[in-house]
Amino acid sequence: MEYAGLVENSNDLIQVVDFEGRLLYVNQMWLDTLGYSREEAASLHFFSILHPDFHCNCHERIGQLQSGQVVPRFEASFITRDGEKIVTEGSISLYQENGVPRGIQGFFRDITQRKKTEDALREREEQFRTIFESSVAGIAMLAPDGRFLQANPAFCNFLGYSEQELKQLKITDVTHPDDIEDTLLRRNIARANRSHSIVCEKRYLKKDGEVFWAQLSSTWFFDENGTPLYTVPVIQDITARKEAEERIRELAYYDVLTRLPNRSLFNDRLEQSLALARRHDRQMALMFLDLDRFKGVNDTLGHVMGDKLLQIAAQRLSDSLRENDTVARLGGDEFVVILSDYRTPDNLPHIAHKILHALAQPIDLGVRDVYVTTSIGVALYPNDGTDGVELLRNADLAMYAAKEGGGNTFRFYCSEMNARAVSRMDLESNLRRAISEEEFFLEYQPQIDLVSNRMAGLEALLRWQHPQLGVIAPNHFIPLAEETNLIIPIGEWVMRQVFEQASRWHQSHSTMMDEIRVAINVSGRQFDQPDFVDLVRRLLSETGVQPQWFEFEITENVLMKDVQRTVSTLEQLRALGIHIAIDDFGTGYSSLSCLKNLPLNRLKIDKSFIADIQDNPNDRAIVSATIAMAKRLDLEVTAEGVETEGQYGFVHKRDCDEVQGFYFCKPLPADEVLGACWNYLESSSSQS
Ligand code: C2E
Ligand code: MG
Ligand code: MG
Repeated sequence: MEYAGLVENSNDLIQVVDFEGRLLYVNQMWLDTLGYSREEAASLHFFSILHPDFHCNCHERIGQLQSGQVVPRFEASFITRDGEKIVTEGSISLYQENGVPRGIQGFFRDITQRKKTEDALREREEQFRTIFESSVAGIAMLAPDGRFLQANPAFCNFLGYSEQELKQLKITDVTHPDDIEDTLLRRNIARANRSHSIVCEKRYLKKDGEVFWAQLSSTWFFDENGTPLYTVPVIQDITARKEAEERIRELAYYDVLTRLPNRSLFNDRLEQSLALARRHDRQMALMFLDLDRFKGVNDTLGHVMGDKLLQIAAQRLSDSLRENDTVARLGGDEFVVILSDYRTPDNLPHIAHKILHALAQPIDLGVRDVYVTTSIGVALYPNDGTDGVELLRNADLAMYAAKEGGGNTFRFYCSEMNARAVSRMDLESNLRRAISEEEFFLEYQPQIDLVSNRMAGLEALLRWQHPQLGVIAPNHFIPLAEETNLIIPIGEWVMRQVFEQASRWHQSHSTMMDEIRVAINVSGRQFDQPDFVDLVRRLLSETGVQPQWFEFEITENVLMKDVQRTVSTLEQLRALGIHIAIDDFGTGYSSLSCLKNLPLNRLKIDKSFIADIQDNPNDRAIVSATIAMAKRLDLEVTAEGVETEGQYGFVHKRDCDEVQGFYFCKPLPADEVLGACWNYLESSSSQS
């Protein structure tokens, strides 16, 4: 036969088996594959090489062929001579000779290798599926346009969707709006560069609207032409870490109490605003704010109330400004505002007034309403400074000028302020030097008895002879001396000086001086020193003066701070014989019921109430009431800051005991004050 060679040399296993199972013919491939020689094959029974699993099917198929049906292709396994299993795929048909069926002919292809590969693949796929399903990382598969094709349970859990729901969505539907632009950009870059992976952090939006922070590593798959096939994003939950980072950032850049930006963030913002102003050739304003009398609230009502007040003030400040203005807290009761958008400087006073008004409203601290006002200093870029440090310093100087102007007001920076005031830092180092160089001196101001029209007391007032700036008034340096505790050595110096001066006066004018107290201002810081009374005793004995010659002036805030301790210190002083006066009465928050329990001699009405007495009915009412109240508490009353006849007349009529003020005498050096005062009193009594 011409084609016999085709069969013999075919790559398939070809066999003819008679109905008894004898192998009538097998080709070379059959022999090679199953490992038999032609002679051995001739004596084999077909079932001895057919794998037992297939015996049963074999009978069935033969039956089908004999009844004239066609048997579709099928798989069958054989056993080689070495006992190995060979998997084949093939077909069988009837073998006929001269139209008479003689057996079955079969054509089989060895697919063992393919089968092995397929099985291995299936196994791998199953492994991958298990990993995919059980992974704690969220894994998904996206079409190039971002549609979800698949998502594993972790991915679904993270975002709160079912896989079915995700398959209706695109990746941009579950991306945080602020991160969509970046997501699309990354996709375009990946496509353009055919890059295969992207690692980044991004925010997703969960089904319930919550933010989900993820570490994303996304892999792109392309076909051989570079057309994108799909991407596989793998995400891990980093929400907790991000929240912790956010908290740390907040702590680093925001003030914990008021939640306003702190000094660091303020410095950043200031630099940014300055850079913008420079680039666009625009102006910018910096406001420096300091609450007036905040220290008093803190001292008398305690830190908890002080904190609450700061929070309310911060809120009011923010509320009175626009969103793109930066409000920051520098510390204590100091705030700063960066204004970039106010069109013309003419609008700045309006803004400042708005802030002053908002802050001046009564603040309800639960226990009582408190009034705080604010001082604002304004400095402008570029006129008042071209860098942050200079602007801040000048706004600060302007703020001090506003304070000097009585507070509750604002001042624009002007160059004279610079000339007048040394910066606080210089002031501090100068102040230290002033102690060692003995640049301080005292002046004395008489206090006049309104009934006898005689000098009843002298208040010692501290001055600082600065080598460059001339004489500096105590209001300019005492607060800083208190902050830096330099007031302790300064206060001791004052007391010693006053005691020595009194001793000299008593020696030279012994009879007259018996009627005259010398008043010393005592700062809260001094008063709080545990050894304050010991110090007083020591100085008294060292200078040889009598305690009853002296009166200590203490501001009401000091008295109210820690009433119990205060009472004990006051009682010890009183036991020595020293008089006690409450200074600047009316400016603090003392409660009258407390005053009743304190061993006090005198109450000094603050000069701010006297100043407006003729124009301001409120002040008139306060002064009258204070005098009346003091009388009921058995306290003497001194009106401070009496400058005019009208003021004098007013307090005189209301039975005020003593007055002190420029109307009678300014503070003068020790060797001038007695003479000047007596001259004045003599001339005024001879006139009347
Ligand atoms: P103070 O104890 O209330 O002193 C009275 C202040 O009013 C003094 O200001 C005095 O010069 C001023 N004065 C007196 N009469 C008039 C007047 O008719 N009109 C006006 N406008 N002012 C008048 P000074 O000397 O500037 O002292 C300011 C404050 O500095 C004092 O207020 C006191 O609290 C503090 N101080 C002064 N010396 C010392 C001191 O040795 N130690 C401490 N701790 N504080 C001091
Ligand atoms: Mg005083
Ligand atoms: Mg006073």
